[in-house]
Amino acid sequence: MGPIKETYVDVLIIGAGPAGLMMAVWMAKCGISTRIVDKRGTKVFSGQADGLQCRTLEIMDSLGFGHRAWRESNHMLEFCMWSPDEAGRLRRSDRIADTTPGLSRFQQAVLQQGRIERFFLDEMAECSDIRVERAVMPTSLTIDEAVVEDPDSYPIVVALRHLTEEEATPKHTTAAANGQPVHDGLFRSNLTKDDTAEMLALSKLNEHAGAEQIVHAKYVVGADGAHSWTRRQIGLSLEGDSTDYIWGVLDIVPITDFPDIRMRCAIHSADSGSIMIIPREKKLVRVYVQLTTTAKVGDEAGSRADRSKINPDIIIAEAQKIMAPYQISYQTLDWWTAYQIGQRVGTQFSVHERVFLAGDAVHTHSPKAGQGMNVSMQDTFNLGWKIASVVKGQTNRSILKTYESERRKVAQDLITFDHKFSRLFSGRPAKDDTDTEGVKMEDFKDAFMKGNLFVSGTSVNYGASAIVAKAEDPSAQRDGIDALSGDERGCLISDQALAPGLVVGMRIPSVKVLSQADARPWHLQELLPSNGRWRVLVFPGNVQDQKQADRLTSVANNFDSRDSFVARFTAADGPIDAVFELLVVHKAPRSAVTIFDFPPVFRRFSDVEGYDYDKIYVDDVSYHEGHGNIYQEFGISEEGCIVVVRPDQHVSYVGSLRKPEAVTQFFSGFMVSQVK
Ligand code: FAD
Repeated sequence: MGPIKETYVDVLIIGAGPAGLMMAVWMAKCGISTRIVDKRGTKVFSGQADGLQCRTLEIMDSLGFGHRAWRESNHMLEFCMWSPDEAGRLRRSDRIADTTPGLSRFQQAVLQQGRIERFFLDEMAECSDIRVERAVMPTSLTIDEAVVEDPDSYPIVVALRHLTEEEATPKHTTAAANGQPVHDGLFRSNLTKDDTAEMLALSKLNEHAGAEQIVHAKYVVGADGAHSWTRRQIGLSLEGDSTDYIWGVLDIVPITDFPDIRMRCAIHSADSGSIMIIPREKKLVRVYVQLTTTAKVGDEAGSRADRSKINPDIIIAEAQKIMAPYQISYQTLDWWTAYQIGQRVGTQFSVHERVFLAGDAVHTHSPKAGQGMNVSMQDTFNLGWKIASVVKGQTNRSILKTYESERRKVAQDLITFDHKFSRLFSGRPAKDDTDTEGVKMEDFKDAFMKGNLFVSGTSVNYGASAIVAKAEDPSAQRDGIDALSGDERGCLISDQALAPGLVVGMRIPSVKVLSQADARPWHLQELLPSNGRWRVLVFPGNVQDQKQADRLTSVANNFDSRDSFVARFTAADGPIDAVFELLVVHKAPRSAVTIFDFPPVFRRFSDVEGYDYDKIYVDDVSYHEGHGNIYQEFGISEEGCIVVVRPDQHVSYVGSLRKPEAVTQFFSGFMVSQVK
C-alpha cells in the first residue's frame, strides 16, 4: 500500500441527505472548495420524506430548481378531518385549506425524497465540480483547538475510508407484496440499530476495501442523520424523550371507496387509532397508520417497538380497522417503514464554530407534520452562505455563532409543536364534552391551523444579532440562546415602523413588481437568487416628488462614496456587485420615468455590455398579471425606506432614506475591510 493521501479542503460535508446536499449546493453556488461524502453507495430512490413546505419551495426556487419540484409534485390544497359521529360512524367532520391562503406564492406539495435529492445533485453538477463521494466513511476526526480562531487555518483532520459496494449497500427487508420485492425504510428508521460500527468493522476486515485518506478541513458539517457519527466524535448529544406511539408507513396505490383519498386527511377512529393520508405523485398515497396492537420489547413507557412484528400486512390491516366501514387495500406497494415517535434536540449545534451539526443530526421528531426534511434543509440554507462568506474573507468568524442562536430556537419550537401535534394526532377522539381523556376535534383543528403557519417555514423569525438589526429579544436570553451582545452588534436597531410588513428577522415576503426597463412582472423573491450576495433594496416612494428624488440621490451618493460599505467591503479586483446588489423599487407611474431618471449607481454602465437594466423596479399595474401593490403590502409610507436583505432572504435591517450611512454602520459590525 502506498502512502496515505493527504488533501486540504475548505469545507467537508459528512452525509449527502437533504441537509448535506443543501450545504453542498450553497458551496457550489459560492465557489467554495468542498468535498461531500456518504457511506451509502447510492442516493435514496423511494420513500422517506415527501412533504415540501412553502418556504422550502421558495428556497428551491432561489437555487434554480423550484420549478422542477413544483411541476413534479402533488399539490395539497385541502385538509379533511374525519372522526366518529355520536353513533360512532366515521364521517368527515371538517375541511380547511391545507396551506393558509396568502402565506406564500407556493403551497404545500409532496414529492418523494429521491427526486428532491436528484434536483440538488443536478444543480451541483450544473454549477461546480463538487460530486458526492459515495461509499466513503469517516473513521476519525480531530480538532486542533490552538488554531480554531485563525480564519486561515485548517484545524480539523478527518480520516476517510472507502467502502466496498457491498458494505455501502443497506440491508433491505424484502416484503412480498403480491410477488413484488419492496425496499423498506427500516434501515434508516429509528427502529433500526445504527449500522455505522458494523460497516466500519466490515471495511476493516475486507481486504478489497479502498484506500484511506486524510482530509484537512477548515470547516466540517455533520449532516449524517439521526445516528450522527460526527455528533459522537465532537461529544455532543440530543436531549428529549420517546413516546409510546408506534406508526407504520405505507406508500401504496390504494384501491378504496374512501371518498377523500386524494385529499390530505386526518382520520381519528373511535378506538382503533388514527391515520394520516397524504396523496402523492403518480397515484401514490402515503398512509401513516397508528399501530395500536403491535407489541413492544419492554412494557415501560418509551421502550422500543418490536420490529420483527411489523410488516405491510399488519399495517394495512390496522388501516382497514381505522377506516371501516370504508375498504382499503392495494396491489402496488412502493415502500414502507415503521417508527416510534420521539422528540429530541441537540444541546449544541457546533464546537468552536468549526464543526457544525445540521438536520436530523441535531433534531428528531415525528414525520407527520412534514417537517424533518424541510427543517434539515433550512438548517444548512442558514449555515451555507455564512461559512462561504467567512471562507472568502468577506465576514468575520463571529457571524458563525448565529447559526446556533438562530437554528436551535427553530428546532426547539419544532419539538414543542411536534410534541403537541403528535399527541393530539395519536390520541383517541373524545366521546363527548365530559370525556377529558379524549382529544376534542376542535382542539385538533385549532392546533392544525395555528401549526400551519409554523410548519410552512415562513414564520421563522431570527433574533437580534450582528446580522439582524433589531432590539434584543428577552426570550432569547431566557432560553439560554447565545445571542450576540448589543456591543458586538454596534447597537444598530431598525426602524420597523417604516415597513411593518417586512419584519426584521423574517424572510422577505414576495409581491410582484415590474421591471422599469421592460415592464415584465417579477416576484420580488425571484430578484434575490441564492448566490451569496447581500441585497440593499431602496424604496424611494414616488420619485416624481422632488423631495423623494433628492433623498434617493443622496442615498445613491452615499452608497457610491469611497467610505461606503460597497467600497470598503468589496474587493477592488472583483466585480462591483460581487458582495452587494443595489436594487430600487419606486412608486412613480412606470410610464412617467425611465431608467435614466435614476442615479447611475442603480444602472451601472460597462463598455462591453452597456447599461444594467435589472436593478430598477416599479410598483405599478402590469399588462397581464395585475398589480402587486408592494408599498401597500409592506406598509411602506410615502417617505420610503432602505431594506437590507441577507443572502438567505431574511430581512436584516429597515431604516430611513435620511440615514444611508446606517447601512455602512450595519455592515461594519461583521464585515472584513477589503481596503488595502
Ligand atoms: P438523512 O436524510 O438521514 O441523511 C443523512 C445522510 O448521511 C444519509 O445519506 C446517510 O447515508 C449519511 N450518513 C450517515 N452516517 C454517515 C457516516 N458515518 N458517514 C457518511 N455518511 C453518513 N421529513 C419531512 O420533511 N417530510 C416528511 O413527510 C417526512 N416523512 C418521513 C417519513 C419517514 C417514514 C421517515 C423515516 C422520515 C420522514 N421525514 C420527513 C424525515 C426526513 O426523512 C428526515 O428528517 C430528513 O431526511 C433529514 O435529512 P438529513 O439530511 O438531516 O438526514
